[in-house]
Order: sequence, then structure tokens, then C-alpha cells
Amino acid sequence: MTSRRALLTGAAAGTAALALAGRRARAAALAPERRIGFALVGIGKLTQGQLIPALRSTKIARLTALVSGHADKAKRVAAAEGVPERSIYSYETFDRLADNPDVDVVYIVLPNSLHAEYTIRAARAGKHVYCEKPMAVTTAECDQMIAASKKAGRQLGIGYRLHFEPYNLELMRIARARELGALKFIAATAGTIPVEPKQWRLDKKLAGGGSMVDIGIYALQAVRYVTGEEPVSVSARATITDRVKFKDIDETLAFSLAFPSGVVASCVSTYAAHVSRVDVATDGGRFGLEPALYYHGIKGFRSDGKPFAFPDIDQFAAEMDDFAACVRDGKPTRVPGEEGLRDVRIIDALYRSAATGRDIKLT
Ligand code: NAD
Repeated sequence: MTSRRALLTGAAAGTAALALAGRRARAAALAPERRIGFALVGIGKLTQGQLIPALRSTKIARLTALVSGHADKAKRVAAAEGVPERSIYSYETFDRLADNPDVDVVYIVLPNSLHAEYTIRAARAGKHVYCEKPMAVTTAECDQMIAASKKAGRQLGIGYRLHFEPYNLELMRIARARELGALKFIAATAGTIPVEPKQWRLDKKLAGGGSMVDIGIYALQAVRYVTGEEPVSVSARATITDRVKFKDIDETLAFSLAFPSGVVASCVSTYAAHVSRVDVATDGGRFGLEPALYYHGIKGFRSDGKPFAFPDIDQFAAEMDDFAACVRDGKPTRVPGEEGLRDVRIIDALYRSAATGRDIKLT
């Protein structure tokens, strides 16, 4: 049962969190000309549904250019968002971004197998790059993207929005502070159902993989940022129930990771169900999130009865403002290319394990 003391402590924590959120909301937005300009590359679902709306509420970032293969769509979106026509590019004219002083950051929101090419071209154009997850489809591509950004002297960030989301940040904090004791076991599930039959996510050439690279990556991220460790060995088993839809990509991948401290994580990535949960067992109790990775409505639980509640935020506005501040202030992003590479390397090992039936050691 929840004790009165726990309720009071929780209420105080909740009030403090709300006050902090209020202060952040009141933080003055920079004048447009002082903001960091973002070019969005690809005007698909994420760009239209999340990033453009988020850029209407960001305080340090602003939308200054669009890249699209569909001129009409780009013109319509540009007119609605106040982007000048001269700042609309196609994939053929992409490299001319180099001459646009209003663009500081190029945000790659394309199918996964195109991330590397456009990240490298943007870096060569002298721009900072924010690239959607998964960073790329091979570790070699990730290495090339990191090298190109380093050579250009520009930052490379990966779109891991949950690193800016209060519930997930609290998950990390509880784990680091060992508030409920030492971590022992983590169960993490992440799944969605791709409904459109002709989308690029079902095409291995464009997606690079199946559910694991698209949604399972969140379960992998969660167990890595909860433990703060890198796995030393992994194993995975694949299951496919629909061989027409999932011809050469994974539908469901059950995988486990062993960490140096002895923590074990058991995870499921799936294209068969909407699931989203992180459940951390310690030697003193349990804590976690469900749903854990949605854009809104994340909920926390902890076995000691203390409340686990924060204001709902726009995760995309938070990540873009953070990257904009990093670029402006010359400080490193907390989601650099190296972080994206770590996931791609582990996913590669998971696929090898599923293909061979063997555990894979990671050094
Ligand atoms: P989408 O299919 O809705 O949009 C992709 C865009 O790429 C479209 O505008 C399309 O025209 C363009 N494109 C350019 N070349 C293409 C080609 N050869 N084939 C197909 N499309 C091409 O996809 P989306 O859902 O917006 O996903 C884009 C990226 O964002 C992916 O890497 C995905 O993993 C990532 N994403 C991240 C999140 C998140 O929460 N961070 C959520 C959704 C998607």
C-alpha cells in the first residue's frame, strides 16, 4: 500500500517537476534570426506529422529549408511554414545547401538506407547533421558518416528522442541512483504493426532490416541506457508468421543481452503487435514504463509506491532544441553518431545470432 510519506514525497516531487516544466515553457524563445536553422530532408509521415509541428514550438531551432522529390508538396509545406521558395531543394540540388547561410543543421528523415549518403553529402556541404534512427544499415556506413562529420568539423546527432523525454530520463536516474537497489534483470518489448503493404519499411534494400531496426531498437536503447553498460554477449531467435508480408525482413525477434555487471536483459522486437514496455527488476523491487516509447502518454511505475509522473512534452521539439543549443554553444550532443553506431553494431550481432543459432560475443 502507498504510505502517506511516499505520497507526500511524491507530491512534492511532482510539484517540483511541474514548476520546472513551467519555467522551461516560459523560457524566452529566441528571435527567428538568432535561431539555429534546420533543413528537413524528406517530407514523409514523421516530418509532416511530428517535426514540422514541433518546429512551430521550438525556442532555439527553426525551420529554414526543405528537401523533397515532390516539388508541389514542398511548395505547399514551405508556403504554410514561411520557408522561402529559394530554400526548397530536390535530391539533385541538395548539395547547394552549402550556399544557404540560413541552414545550420540538415535533418535526415529518409528511409534508412539513404541516411548515410545524405548525411555524408550534408557534412561535405559544411552542415551539422541530425539523422533519424537507425543511424544507417551497416556499421561501415556509420563509420563513414562519423568520419565525414569529423572531417567537416561539424556535429552529428541521431534522433533518439527518448533521451530528452522526462519519464525515460527518470528511468535512467532511478537506475543510476540505485533507488530501488541493484539492477538484476530487465524485460523490454517494443512493437508496432506496419499496415501499408507497399511501404519502404517492408523492403530490405531500403529498410536494412525489419522490426528490429525500426522499433526493436527502442528496447535495445532502453536496456543500454538503463544499465549504462554495453552488452558482452547477445543471442536472438526470429519468428515469422506472415511470409508474404515479411519476405526477407524480421517480423519478431526475441533477443537477450548479458551485461558486464551480471544484469541480463530479455527483449522482444515485433511487427505483430503494438507493445511498449520496460520493466526493471532490482534486488529491492521493480520500476519501469508502460507505454515506454510512444510520442505521448508514457506512464511510469515503481514498486515502492512513490508516484512516477511528469508533464507530457513534445519530444521532437525537445530534441531539436537540444541539438540546436549544442550547435550554438559548441557542446557535444548526448546522442552522437557513436551512439547510433553502437546500436547498429549490436543489431548486426543479433541478426548474425538469429541466422546461426549461436550466441555472439561482443568486445
Ligand atoms: P515516410 O515513408 O513517411 O517518409 C519517407 C520520405 O522519404 C518520404 O517523403 C519519401 O518521399 C522520401 N523518399 C526519398 N527517397 C525515397 C525512396 N527511394 N524510397 C522511399 N521514400 C523516399 O517514412 P517516415 O516514417 O517519415 O520515416 C523516415 C525516417 O524517420 C526513418 O528512418 C524512420 O526510421 C524514422 N522515424 C523515426 C521516428 C522516431 O520516433 N524518431 C518515427 C518515425 C520514423
